[in-house]
Amino acid sequence: MNRFDVVIVGTGHGGAQAAIALRQQGFAGSIAMIGRDANPPYERPPLSKDYLSGDKPFERIMIRPEAFWAERAVELRLGTSVTRVDPEMKLVELSGGDTIEYGHLIWATGGDARRLSCPGGHLAGVHTVRDRRDVDTLMAEIEGGARRFVVVGGGYIGLEAAAALTKLGCEVVVVEAQERVLNRVAGPELSAFYEAEHRAHGVDVRTGAAVDRLAGEDRVTAVVLEDGEELPCDGVIVGIGIVPSVGTLMAAGAAGSNGLDVTDICRTNLDDVYAIGDCAAHANIWADGAVIRLESVQNAHDMATTVARAICGDPQPYEAFPWFWSNQYDLKLQTAGISTGHDATVLRGEPESRSFSVLYLKDGRLIAIDAVNRTKDYVQGRKLIEARATVAPELLADAEVPLKDLL
Ligand code: ADP
Repeated sequence: MNRFDVVIVGTGHGGAQAAIALRQQGFAGSIAMIGRDANPPYERPPLSKDYLSGDKPFERIMIRPEAFWAERAVELRLGTSVTRVDPEMKLVELSGGDTIEYGHLIWATGGDARRLSCPGGHLAGVHTVRDRRDVDTLMAEIEGGARRFVVVGGGYIGLEAAAALTKLGCEVVVVEAQERVLNRVAGPELSAFYEAEHRAHGVDVRTGAAVDRLAGEDRVTAVVLEDGEELPCDGVIVGIGIVPSVGTLMAAGAAGSNGLDVTDICRTNLDDVYAIGDCAAHANIWADGAVIRLESVQNAHDMATTVARAICGDPQPYEAFPWFWSNQYDLKLQTAGISTGHDATVLRGEPESRSFSVLYLKDGRLIAIDAVNRTKDYVQGRKLIEARATVAPELLADAEVPLKDLL
């Protein structure tokens, strides 16, 4: 039996940053980090972008060089899952049969890519884009000659994958169930723009299209839509969101449903057990206190720092400002704030110029911005949002007036 002062479960952005932040805060106790993934911690956003397109090798997406973890006395247990948590005995059981006692437990497991539940959803050639192995398998199939792909889901993952595959010379159809892409996360102006961009790059974008089944014997050969149309393909990419990995901790008595309920210092209802990142449901001050899960590097990173502070005896509430980005083709989208619940949008600049912003208002207050190829708006808009500014829509719409002048 081993004992570590801190046991971190998950080697994504949250888990890795928790270890980094603990050492940065001067934490001298023992730390173990357990991850199902066989690789040392790496960045996930490039998986649907530069890693998939082949522009960045794995070494360039590692969060730290491999030697870093040993240098900081962080014991890595890779390729290992936690199968049970005993909160009374304060121990975790591992897939290999080992047991580890913890002083503090940090649950940073993220989520598993949602899979298609329709017939054919588990055929070979059907891919998700969540970890390195997913993408390596997909890349190997492309190298082996796969050319025609159907991407199911028009969220950021699906659209980024569509852009990367296009760059690799593949033919791509995007099938989105809702009436517009990015429906969950952005306003209609942004959706219309990205649909047009993908079409201009040769992607066949189908909205309001439902998948009935995937056809094929062992390997997928076509996606069949509900209206009977068949989309022949060599492979399918499924980008329909994640299911947070919370079952093991909930079985141990942690409160939650769609995510693990955490306090403002990311503590669960179990003693000395924290949850961070994609799997943590928290009251977010930038969403008027609504309980949400945020799936972003920013959130994982800042929650990890929050927990490290709490463990080091300097607890400070999680109030980090949300931001996010997406790269597709030569378009750099930067978003700040949380647009959920907005009651008005303002367009700033011309989408035709491929440099514009969409600003989101609630009761006259600026709550979020999506800036496409417009970093100045992003930086300055973010300050307006953080200041909780109320600004007249006409002023926001006037691209001649810098947003910083409205502060
Ligand atoms: P991700 O982070 O994987 O991009 P999102 O939830 O932001 O996840 O986006 C997923 C998109 O997939 C949404 O736009 C959603 O409407 C769409 N979607 C979900 N299920 C299906 C389905 N069965 N067929 C087509 N689109 C789907």
